[in-house]
This record gives sequence, structure tokens and C-alpha cells, in this order.
Amino acid sequence: MPELPEVETIRRGLLERLPGRRFVEVEQVEPFMLPEGAEPGLLREALPGRLIEDVRRHGKFLTLVLSDDAYLMLHLGMTGQVTLTSSGADLPKHGRFAFLLEGDEPRRLLFRDMRKFGGVELTFGRPTRRLESLGPDALEGEWTHADLARMLAGRTTPLKAFLLDQRRLAGIGNIYADEILWAARLSPLRPAGALSEDEVVRLAAEIRGRLAEGVRLRGCSISDFVDAEGRPGGFQRTLQAYGRQGEPCARCGRPLDRTVVAGRGTGYCAVCQS
Ligand SMILES: [Zn+2]
Repeated sequence: MPELPEVETIRRGLLERLPGRRFVEVEQVEPFMLPEGAEPGLLREALPGRLIEDVRRHGKFLTLVLSDDAYLMLHLGMTGQVTLTSSGADLPKHGRFAFLLEGDEPRRLLFRDMRKFGGVELTFGRPTRRLESLGPDALEGEWTHADLARMLAGRTTPLKAFLLDQRRLAGIGNIYADEILWAARLSPLRPAGALSEDEVVRLAAEIRGRLAEGVRLRGCSISDFVDAEGRPGGFQRTLQAYGRQGEPCARCGRPLDRTVVAGRGTGYCAVCQS
């Protein structure tokens, strides 16, 4: 599933190419991926003529800022891909949304999603309300280790479940949670409120450190992630914990373990993560 670094990689690709382009036509809409009760015709009516002014991200949510105070939210769900392709060709398999954009060379903004867990929402006057329930962005938000300590305090939930909770910090998913906890030498099963001050400092540093590394390597392409130009990322080559159960821990050499936290398969070292 695309997490913060993958969505940021897509955002940077779109930011290079989208601002200044105008929607011409909505070629494809998947009603199942619109908010409940939304009118599929709204996108077809309201988008043509609007200019794309900016591409923003909060956690795993992308927002295209449009002219006349409109906002188009894109959420990639489990298997979403957002790419900018040439226009005119047939829509590829699993092409759920397709937007034709004007420019020297017309382009198609394409949202493919095999499993249809992603979503698209057009709002006016403000971005989608879904952003309001999110905590600060885990990488770029204004939070400190002292803020993190306050968020953790008193919680008995396992540390990994805390990291996955988008209401605390937004953007961390299953892969980066395992990598952050391995790097911070903290067990995913540890009660979140039980960390010492030093451990909180370590955790805060690794949250930003691992996510920044994911962005630097242009995302993690374990399954189907590609950037806005359709290219895979490189973070998968650096994985130390996620999906490595049974393989030796790079720090202590003992085989990595597997457990389940918050319903998610979790790779960790039971020896050097405590
Ligand atoms: Zn180890």
C-alpha cells in the first residue's frame, strides 16, 4: 500500500508537470470510489475549465488545488497508481479515473486501482473533511519529540498500532512502521505509553529518518508502486524488518521474527528490539 514516501514521490512528479494545466474533459469516473452519495456527474461538470494551481500532500492524501477554490483529493488506498500519460490511447485495465488536461502536449491524468480501495473527492471552499481527522504529517508536520511523548503518554496500545493510527501522525503504514521500529530498536508489541524519554527521542528520529530515506529513494516498490512517470522506487532494497521473517537480523544476526499487530503481519527482531 502506498505510504507517505510513495505518495510524496508521486506528488513531486505531479508538481513538476501539473500546475498551469487545465482540465479539458473527464473521460472516466468510477462511482464506487466516490464518497457515499456523491453525484458522478459532478466531476464531469465542475472540472473542465479549471486550472491546477498546486499539488499538496498530508499523510497519504494528495490534493490538487484548483482554480476558483476547488480541491480534488486523491487517496491511493491499497493498490492505487496515479500517473501522467499521453492522451488518446485506450484506457488501461483498472483505469478508474481519467482526466484529459490541456497543454502544449495534451496529457491524461490517470488513476488506476486494481482493488478499488482508493478514493476521489471534489470539494469547494476547503479540502476534504477527511484531512481534518488526521494528525500532523509524520515527515513534514510541525511536531517534536516532546509532542510525540505527549501523544504516547498513557496509551496501552502496542507501539506499532500507534504508528499506524493516522489520527496521531499521518502517513505511516505497515512497511515503514516495521522499518522505523527496527531502526529505533523498539518492539512493535511494546505498550506505546511505556517508552522512556531516550526511547521517544530515538523513535521520533527514526520516524523522520526512515520516511525521509523512503522519499530519497523514491518510494518502495514491493508490489505495484510506481511514480507519476510509471517508474518503480528503490526503498525495497534497504528493508531490514518488513517481510524478512526468518532471515538474519542485520544488527545481531539472529533470525527475525513475525507477529501480528493490529491485524497486520509484522517483521521484527525479538532479540534486539525491546
Ligand atoms: Zn537483531
